[in-house]
Amino acid sequence: MNLSNRMQRVVESQTIAMTKKARELKDQGIDVISLSIGEPDFDTPSIICEAAKTALDNGDTHYPPVLGTLAFRKSIQIKLLRDDNINVEPSQIIVSNGAKQSIFNAVMTVVNPGDEVLIPAPFWVSYTSMVEYAGGIPIEVPADYENNYKVTAEQLRSHISDKTKLMIFSSPCNPSGSVMSTEELSEWVAVLADYPQILVISDEIYQEIVYVDRPRSLASFPEMHNRVATVNGLSKGYAMTGWRIGYMAGPQEWISACERYQGMISSGANTLGQAGGVIALSSPESKLEVATMRIAFERRRELMGRLLSEIATFKFKIPEGAFYYFPDVSELFGKSNGNGFVINNADDLALYFLENAHVATVSGSAFGAPKCIRLSYATSEEQIIEAVSRIKQAVSQLI
Ligand code: PMP
Ligand code: GLU
Repeated sequence: MNLSNRMQRVVESQTIAMTKKARELKDQGIDVISLSIGEPDFDTPSIICEAAKTALDNGDTHYPPVLGTLAFRKSIQIKLLRDDNINVEPSQIIVSNGAKQSIFNAVMTVVNPGDEVLIPAPFWVSYTSMVEYAGGIPIEVPADYENNYKVTAEQLRSHISDKTKLMIFSSPCNPSGSVMSTEELSEWVAVLADYPQILVISDEIYQEIVYVDRPRSLASFPEMHNRVATVNGLSKGYAMTGWRIGYMAGPQEWISACERYQGMISSGANTLGQAGGVIALSSPESKLEVATMRIAFERRRELMGRLLSEIATFKFKIPEGAFYYFPDVSELFGKSNGNGFVINNADDLALYFLENAHVATVSGSAFGAPKCIRLSYATSEEQIIEAVSRIKQAVSQLI
């Protein structure tokens, strides 16, 4: 088949590729533990499911507006004002097939070929690819381990050029788990104030899963309000990955462009998910369930941190949000399994863990941090204990 030239730039998402490999091994009857995909193991709270079932019974099965149902956008409007101090009209909100599509819309509607896009590293896998699909140039801004993988204002400034059009970041960060404090964000804002042409995508999908003070939204800084697309969704905080509901709120012109773009590609997101979304964002029961899941994640964070600290060659910070550990494993590079397989990099190590320990992880190379691997702790405590014990054993066999 003669695929398009464009496809030469399209690599498989590493988070999805590792999960696929783990599934294949599982299908062969191998007991693989997956710490690869970032997905809560909890089922969606039943009150949300009930709302979707009611919508189905009521015949809510027709095309929704491309922007999303008014009821859901009103819930998002209230949520943004209540929780994030962001004041927008429903017309400034678009609902998409997951936050992933919202980010893609946002990139495709503003990036021209040759435009530079600042991406603090480590970053979530899909950002760089999305920028490349738009013909833009991802400019990775490497953060230091010592600064908890957070890019400083000066590091940001030193990567800005007259071609810089956009910046994309997540806080809490997937994969590092770091959370930008209000002070650190203010320092970024001070730099961005000197470059009014730079737009920002603030990916807040892990907002409900934090173990420090709730992070402030970038768009709540008055001077940033007209330059920031706030992306969020239901996948992580509400355990709704399979529902594929995300959204973006931002300047009217940007949202209207996304509406035109999405209207040609996928139309509005599914109606039942949006009906569930209304309850997810507005009911006290849902809030309680979210808090309960957060507490479970926090317990698992403690557990995995304690167990990983027994592996002396893993150097890591305790994550402040999301559900990943992101150890620097570079001390293991150059070691071998004794049978001729040399661990040259994090990709090799992730493969070694998958094949020898039957634990699926994701190499940091996919996230712009090639010395690291990512371990998700969105799984049961039993699985965490077993997985880290297998990893520890596999590490001890390297010579
Ligand atoms: N942003 C980040 C940082 C993520 O980890 C994810 C998870 N896939 C997404 C966006 C997209 O989430 P979804 O499309 O499931 O809403
Ligand atoms: N965000 C998740 C992850 O990083 C889901 C997989 C994906 O969409 O990349 O693992």
